[in-house]
Amino acid sequence: MLSGAKGARSGRRRFNATDQAGSLAPVPRLSEVIAALENLWPAERAESWDAVGTVVGDPDQEVTRVLFAVDPVQEIVDEAVKLGADLLVTHHPLYLRGTTTVAATHFKGRVVHTLIKNDIALHVAHTNADTADPGVSDALAGALDLRVTGPLVPDPADPEGRRGLGRVCALDHPLTVREFAARAAERLPATAQGVRVAGDPEAVVRTVAVSGGSGDSLFDHVRAAGVDAFLTADLRHHPVSEARAHSPLALLDAAHWATEWPWCELAASQLDEISDRHGWDLRVHVSKTVTDPWTSHSPSPGAPN
Ligand SMILES: [Zn+2]
Repeated sequence: MLSGAKGARSGRRRFNATDQAGSLAPVPRLSEVIAALENLWPAERAESWDAVGTVVGDPDQEVTRVLFAVDPVQEIVDEAVKLGADLLVTHHPLYLRGTTTVAATHFKGRVVHTLIKNDIALHVAHTNADTADPGVSDALAGALDLRVTGPLVPDPADPEGRRGLGRVCALDHPLTVREFAARAAERLPATAQGVRVAGDPEAVVRTVAVSGGSGDSLFDHVRAAGVDAFLTADLRHHPVSEARAHSPLALLDAAHWATEWPWCELAASQLDEISDRHGWDLRVHVSKTVTDPWTSHSPSPGAPN
């Protein structure tokens, strides 16, 4: 459920500092927390062009607070400092390609400086979290109350056929495109963009493909899945125009950040469970700061519909 988008997770203490016997609950080292995260999202399952894993951090440092967010931007790092976090886990990489400087004169260098000065580690799970089971699109489907029936692009390396990019889903009750778009706008965290729709608003939706983040390279797979609608982000004019000409498939375009944010809640709950099993003294938080780069939206007067 997505009430977490509005309801604070922060400050929830999962463990008392002492257990019933009065002994101290163990504070994990960064290396232990990273090993747990790597187990959820192995780096070798990331795309070859991706840059995942630990960006900043000393394996021996202790971790008592973790913050999950979509973007490793200054606003989020400042939030991590304020929170007293020791580890920031983001979906998007800080550096996708190599760099020759981390000087604080550059905004990414400033992020690195702020992290190191405040003893905060940064760890990234990107395409390895997209294809995980459960992964980014499972969280998106969950936020929209959809029943996942399988991956949209199965990972051939997964014998169980559960991992892969995107998810094919069913609705428990059919909705019109208009109703489904309204549900997405309501359930996903609020952004300036909201949800754009291409298609007949009265068409009936029983099956949906979803893919968190940019999904317009997946149209062939969506068509092959034979679903009624596709919800993703960053859809562009030509692919949408061509997809509409091919079939009555309805397209829903939400803000990139909003389609990936539900994963932060899922990932945080996964780490909470792991922490529980180990009896760690660890607090897990999810940032509710909207880092979608689009900040306002002016509807055209007299627009169709
Ligand atoms: Zn993304």
